[in-house]
Amino acid sequence: MPVIPAKAGIHEVGMQRHLLRFIEQIHFYQIYRCNKMGNKDLKIEDIGEFAFIRSIMDNCQFSSEKMIRGIGDDCAVIGPYENRVLLITTDVLVEDVHFIMGKILPEQLGQKAVAVNLSDIAAMGGKALCLFLSLAIPNTMSVETLKSIYRGIKNMCKRYRINLMGGDTSASPGGLMISVTAIGDANKTEVLYRDGARQGDGIYVTGNLGDSGAGLKLIRNSFSAPEPIASRLIEAHNIPVPYLEAGSMIARSGLASAMIDLSDGLVPDLHHICESSHTGARLNRDALPISKELSALAQINNFDPYELALSGGEDYKLLITVPEKNIASFEKIFQDSTPCPIYRVGEITKGKDLTILSHDGVEEQLDVRGFDHFLPI
Ligand SMILES: [Mg+2]
Repeated sequence: MPVIPAKAGIHEVGMQRHLLRFIEQIHFYQIYRCNKMGNKDLKIEDIGEFAFIRSIMDNCQFSSEKMIRGIGDDCAVIGPYENRVLLITTDVLVEDVHFIMGKILPEQLGQKAVAVNLSDIAAMGGKALCLFLSLAIPNTMSVETLKSIYRGIKNMCKRYRINLMGGDTSASPGGLMISVTAIGDANKTEVLYRDGARQGDGIYVTGNLGDSGAGLKLIRNSFSAPEPIASRLIEAHNIPVPYLEAGSMIARSGLASAMIDLSDGLVPDLHHICESSHTGARLNRDALPISKELSALAQINNFDPYELALSGGEDYKLLITVPEKNIASFEKIFQDSTPCPIYRVGEITKGKDLTILSHDGVEEQLDVRGFDHFLPI
């Protein structure tokens, strides 16, 4: 998704705020329309994924027993069981929506289906325990392809020492659909939610941004690049790495205030944190980590790599907020033990605006909309 155009002055920023409020009003109108279930002609493409989810969030809880967190974070949280809580998350991958057969190896597809779920466990600071796997399979799919998908899934289970414990299979009248449910656990006092960020907190990410979005554009032939640039970026899209070790180290340290994994994109996922925490945020454009492969691709294809870093999606890095008083200790644990690099990219602010500061000191408003499965691109 594009951001509001760069190089805006103060006056233009004011106008952009009005524009964004207008977009927000449309968003609430979409929810209102969705709630009017009497309208039989209303289709999901009229309102989009997020307005639809908001419209069904009411009347989901009928018991407070073992209920800690429901819809609205990376995992649901159930418990406590003595000093532990259960973390549960589910994700679905649909052929021609999330992946194109022939553009990803079947084994990589299995790996990715597991990785995106483990990433949600990592985002809560948890330890992954087991998986459930459901497939809807077209009748014409080769058994060899399916076995390769399972090989990728089992390799991930072996690597992260987790168990595949059940699931379901069905025929599919359309494409292949893979649904994974992951279960993890965590110390009840260490779980990190989206709603803990406060004004003045530093914002950190655990790696380069935008590589996966660039890989997707290469897969779709929107960009071109020589080897090995192309294969490295496509690999970032096809084989994301869950930051389980970093996530649990951050949770154990007790130094962070909120955490999320970057599935929708830096700006939309930061917006999830800000919305839950009732804050705004300011990013520092020059601090956003960009890989040398993405820089090269941007140069060859003449585009701004920061647009992909801000809103490319599917990077699956962790985004962490850290109170000012903990920042020195937080950076030190990443120097002493290095499961991954860490980059400070901005700070949490009061209000609810998301902005970005460019190197010449101009502050621009950011467009918070992420990818929506049902709205036209
Ligand atoms: Mg997530």
